[in-house]
Amino acid sequence: MRFKTKGLILREQNIGERDKLVWVLTDSHGILRAFVRGAKSIKSPKCAGTGLLSYSALTVFEGKDSYVIDEAFAEEQFIGLHKDVVNMSLGQYFCELCLNLCPKGQEASEQLRLALNSLYMLSNNKRPAVQIKVCFEMRLISMTGYMPDLVMCSDCGVYESPEMVFVPQTGRLYCSDCAERHGVQGVRLPIASVTALRHTVYADSDKLFSFELRDELWERLSAASESYVSYMTQRDYPTLQFYKSLNV
Ligand SMILES: [Zn+2]
Repeated sequence: MRFKTKGLILREQNIGERDKLVWVLTDSHGILRAFVRGAKSIKSPKCAGTGLLSYSALTVFEGKDSYVIDEAFAEEQFIGLHKDVVNMSLGQYFCELCLNLCPKGQEASEQLRLALNSLYMLSNNKRPAVQIKVCFEMRLISMTGYMPDLVMCSDCGVYESPEMVFVPQTGRLYCSDCAERHGVQGVRLPIASVTALRHTVYADSDKLFSFELRDELWERLSAASESYVSYMTQRDYPTLQFYKSLNV
């Protein structure tokens, strides 16, 4: 059976001289693992269409226990990322998170749209990289079943205090009084950062990247969001470690 879909290439692995295996985030089937025959021939549109971080129109053959990509035409290649090793490494971290968190065998159009928007922002330097990272991490983790509870203080229910404490281990928020009273350990955030963090989780998707905050406050949120992702998914991400090693 053949079907057409669109997808973002998240990972590729060479097989022999000519073929490869790719992991694609598709709108219709979520994460799909598929073979590409003759993928390395530069003349073939399949070469560009199945390269890492290409967003492509695909024709996929569904066999008994494997998928094969018959045709692939690149629609977007995020050229800006390929020219900047730091942004490229962040893009690869986004891919690793998608591979770990997005569904397999069911539609994932929301996750795909988030990934494409984030890569577009990064590739064209539309926002500071650290802001794109926080937005992507918090929104993806929220979409995939780990939405934090940022509405109010988890203890007394107050909506805001000048400083609040976010606990990455649980995804809960506390006002400074309750945090002090109960000895809650977490990331201390000024209220402007709390508002930004709420925005990354609750804002409409077309407004996701429209929040303004100073870079150093995004940096602190970035530590909080990557820690939250790591606790919720119970693993570390080598691509994130690589990205951070380039940033020191
Ligand atoms: Zn409280």
